[in-house]
Amino acid sequence: MHWSDSIALDIVKRSPDKDIYTCAAGISPSGSIHIGNFRDIATSYFVVKALERLGKNARLLFSWDEFDRLRKIPKNVSDIDQNMEQYIGYPYVDIRNPFGDGCKTYAEYFEKEFESSIKKLGIEMVYRYQADMYRSGKYKEYVILALSKRKEIFDILDSFRTQESSEEDREAYYPVSIYCPICHKDTTQITELSKDCVNAHYRCVCGNESDFNFNEDFNCKLAWKVDWPMRWMYESVDFEPGGKDHASPNGSYQTSKIISEKIFGYQAPLFQGYEFIGIKGSTGKMSGSSGLNLTPETLLKIYQPEIILWLYSKTIPTKAFDFCFDDGILRQYFEFDKQYDAYQNQTADELTNVVISNCLVGSRKIHTVPMGLMVQLGSVVNFNISVLQTVFKKLGTPYTEEELMERLPLAKYWLEHCAPENKNTLRTTRNWHVYDSFSEQEKEEIRLLYIYLAEGGYSLEDLNHKLYEIPKFVFPDIHDKNELKKLQSAFFANVYKLLIDKEKGPRLYLFLYAVETDQYLRLLDFETPKTELELTAETAAEETAAPEEENITVKEPDPVPAVKNMISFDAFETLDFRVCKVVKCTEIRKSHSCLKLTLFDGIGERVIVSSIKKEYKPEELIGKKIIVLANLKPAKFSGVMSEGMLMAATNNACGCKVIFADDSIPEGTQIK
Ligand SMILES: [Zn+2]
Repeated sequence: MHWSDSIALDIVKRSPDKDIYTCAAGISPSGSIHIGNFRDIATSYFVVKALERLGKNARLLFSWDEFDRLRKIPKNVSDIDQNMEQYIGYPYVDIRNPFGDGCKTYAEYFEKEFESSIKKLGIEMVYRYQADMYRSGKYKEYVILALSKRKEIFDILDSFRTQESSEEDREAYYPVSIYCPICHKDTTQITELSKDCVNAHYRCVCGNESDFNFNEDFNCKLAWKVDWPMRWMYESVDFEPGGKDHASPNGSYQTSKIISEKIFGYQAPLFQGYEFIGIKGSTGKMSGSSGLNLTPETLLKIYQPEIILWLYSKTIPTKAFDFCFDDGILRQYFEFDKQYDAYQNQTADELTNVVISNCLVGSRKIHTVPMGLMVQLGSVVNFNISVLQTVFKKLGTPYTEEELMERLPLAKYWLEHCAPENKNTLRTTRNWHVYDSFSEQEKEEIRLLYIYLAEGGYSLEDLNHKLYEIPKFVFPDIHDKNELKKLQSAFFANVYKLLIDKEKGPRLYLFLYAVETDQYLRLLDFETPKTELELTAETAAEETAAPEEENITVKEPDPVPAVKNMISFDAFETLDFRVCKVVKCTEIRKSHSCLKLTLFDGIGERVIVSSIKKEYKPEELIGKKIIVLANLKPAKFSGVMSEGMLMAATNNACGCKVIFADDSIPEGTQIK
């Protein structure tokens, strides 16, 4: 059973006869919405679909938490405007838009940015803008209710705290923040409250002091753990997912659940915690998408909307998965196509049917043009659409121009921005340098291939067969299968070297068959003498090649030290070594030796300083996973507080080398 179906069954079991079921999601427009936050919507979206499969009415209710206070300025904001710090404490909806693009407020800018991706993903949802909800007075009676039960709320919150609290704390607690009309911030403190909890007196850090009537003034907001359950009740929410940090036993959900039941008399919705989303490979030249601020909009440049949804749909919420910027993306396209085709042909199993039907966008039909071939062959023919059409036709899988255009821009974008090393570009001149290094037999193989291709008139199968035959013919004495395989692979690699300066490429027979021979045949013809151009290229290469080898000096390794004193296993266990991902890395200007690394340690970001500036450039570390001693007491280096130490090996023979962890290990994994 699909995970969304089992959640839907639980929902219906709890409340069997609702006219309409509400699955909620909510995000603060605190900056560009990251694909990790998008899981909030995706999870609820699939549960809505599952409820509909059960014949129920269901809605996806999405809350823009734009009435929350600004806590931190995201980097892409401070990069364009250094004066945003003054807005800390403002609700997002009252902050001016620093981007100057027509949107009125900070909140609106990030909301619009995200909503346009949501449309492309075909997701329909009911939007709630929380600033409007509060400021129109819709919640006023619940604000007053929360104030009247403030001591009970305090006690519930207190039961989750580890620190002792005093009766004074309890007296001074108000679960409401008033936004100051003078300075616009929430830096206010209620000093008096009338018995009926309607009239208050408050003071603001800015000096403003005033009265507040909760029946008439609505510029105030409930504290997060009270606000959340109030809205569950207000909207009659049946299900809401949340990041795994909310899901922990002491997390917001548990607290809000009790407040929901005890304060608002509402049975808390079912909850599903979800894992973070990872990124594999380097986002390379994709702008504004390094590390933690990757948006769905960025993903849509390389993923079809259906495949983005498919990844969320096929993975249970408690499992992490990666969006791939490396060639893992080709594998994902391949797997999607396999499932999609099975779904279309009605040969898929029940689970696959649900996974695929969950991620269809409207009535749009996908044309599963193999992305691997599109990338490999597309680059050879410069993504010329009509040439590509011929290529696929020759391969026996014709597509219309329209069908090819669904994936072509994505393939091209990925290749150019994320994986330029996968580009296959035909050489302009023959590679004499490589050819001259071949043995006589290897040269003979090339000659035979050239004659065969020049003659033409072969089918795809003929050509495939011929490619395996040529080495057999040139080495008639080799009968051992493995030996022969090696010779065949070497022959294919030689052809690639001559054509595209690489040892590997797309399947050779497809490549040679799909690309018009007149585009590459001359690169395999070594009977005609060197051209003027080739001769000049050679001399130029010789002149620049010479000094290259000089710098390599082999240094003596350090003497191997004796093993240190024994420690107990318990002592070892106190060390918290964990795998962290480098999300940001910058040079510390004042320091000759130190780099500042911002890491994701599985829980949040942490900054460490490491004296590896001479050994590594920041771009060599970004996106890599390293091992960090996470519970080393923080210390200041070059003016920056370092929260941990990375593992590196230093030896005279190699200098200082950082120990990198395998990319498949999730961030936060402990080393034991
Ligand atoms: Zn103020």
